[in-house]
Amino acid sequence: MVKKEIIVIGAGASGLMAASRYRDRDIALLEGNARPAEKIKISGGGKCNITNKDVSPEHYLGDPAFTGDILAGFTQRDLLAWLRERGLDPVVRKGSQYFCPRSSQELISLLLHEVQGVPLLTGHKVLDISKEEDFIVTTDRGEFEAKKVVVAAGGLSFPKIGATDIAFRIAEKFGHTVHTPKPALVGFTLQKAQFWMKSLSGISLPVHVNVGAKSITGDMLFAHRGISGPAILNSSLYWQKGEIVIDFLPGRQLDDRLFGSRKQISTVLGLPRRFMKAFLDAIGLKDQPLCTLDHEAKAKLEKIKSYRFAPAGNFGYSKAEVTAGGVATDEIDPKTMMSRKCEGLYFLGEALDVTGELGGYNFQWAFATAQRLKIEV
Ligand SMILES: Cc1cc2nc3c(=O)[nH]c(=O)nc-3n(C[C@H](O)[C@H](O)[C@H](O)COP(=O)(O)OP(=O)(O)OC[C@H]3O[C@@H](n4cnc5c(N)ncnc54)[C@H](O)[C@@H]3O)c2cc1C
Repeated sequence: MVKKEIIVIGAGASGLMAASRYRDRDIALLEGNARPAEKIKISGGGKCNITNKDVSPEHYLGDPAFTGDILAGFTQRDLLAWLRERGLDPVVRKGSQYFCPRSSQELISLLLHEVQGVPLLTGHKVLDISKEEDFIVTTDRGEFEAKKVVVAAGGLSFPKIGATDIAFRIAEKFGHTVHTPKPALVGFTLQKAQFWMKSLSGISLPVHVNVGAKSITGDMLFAHRGISGPAILNSSLYWQKGEIVIDFLPGRQLDDRLFGSRKQISTVLGLPRRFMKAFLDAIGLKDQPLCTLDHEAKAKLEKIKSYRFAPAGNFGYSKAEVTAGGVATDEIDPKTMMSRKCEGLYFLGEALDVTGELGGYNFQWAFATAQRLKIEV
């Protein structure tokens, strides 16, 4: 059996960063995939949205005190400085999001350079862990013994590139609470009453969405299977069950001046014609000059500012960018990332019950947790 002081499970964002910090110790990285960092590769449309100008716990679902503490210890400025010192200077796109200048491969190469010398055992899928005096890590290619185990194995999203439930199984095995994992940053499927939206596949609109206590502004994309786009993906993070409310005319009011117009509804509001036609059909209103609307018709049209409905569900883990829920953070010591239930066991990244919005928040989280990791000899 191979013996190591530290085993890191998962060569993704948090696992690679963690291994780089402990590369001078007797350490090995176990990765189920044939290649490391598959998720970084496909992230941000192949350019990896690494972080954001505005990082704070408000952009995360999870305990704000725990999240804020970890994020404050390794801020977006710290991450950018860390990357620049190593030759990668991310570029700002979409206002506040930092991306690799050319391709995600730039970040992957940097991280792999940082773990040079660390045995990176790809094609080693971890199946189980047990603990006697030390940990025994069982993989599909044999067993490893380690004094410390760092679980950086992520969540359940994108099973086709290697996601497994190993982090949650390990947590539960050692007595942790795992808050029910669910797909997040994912499109919604629709109930029959909203099937009209499916006919609009390909159209994108700026909208404002209210979901629970959260207000989200951004683009919404009508898709073949339902609705998607940044505003909807962010909404999915905060949606449990029940209704969401969409404002299809953010920043504009249906006021008396507008209702006095002699122009057709579909031309005045400036929304795509296909959308207007489908929307008017759905609310049972004929396209007509605005000035001809009676009280009841006006009330119907006002639904364009607050279209309320309950999504049927979401597109599932095969499309979800992240997994919400996960290992309860009150059972993790934020000073070290060590389990409060099992000495020598650590959890990082997405496996924890902290999930960020779109915009680089999840990589920032993964890297911040890896920087907080503190493994005593
Ligand atoms: C399509 C897509 C696009 C995304 N784009 C962005 C973006 O632009 N910006 C952003 O901030 N976030 C993005 N995310 C989210 C981000 O990728 C994750 O939140 C982040 O990678 C989590 O880091 P992690 O280290 O916790 O886990 P991961 O990076 O997922 O790494 C976990 C590693 O563990 C390995 N593993 C899993 N199970 C086992 C096992 N049983 N044995 C051995 N190894 C195992 C996996 O193969 C993987 O390599 C995106 C996600 C997806 C799916």
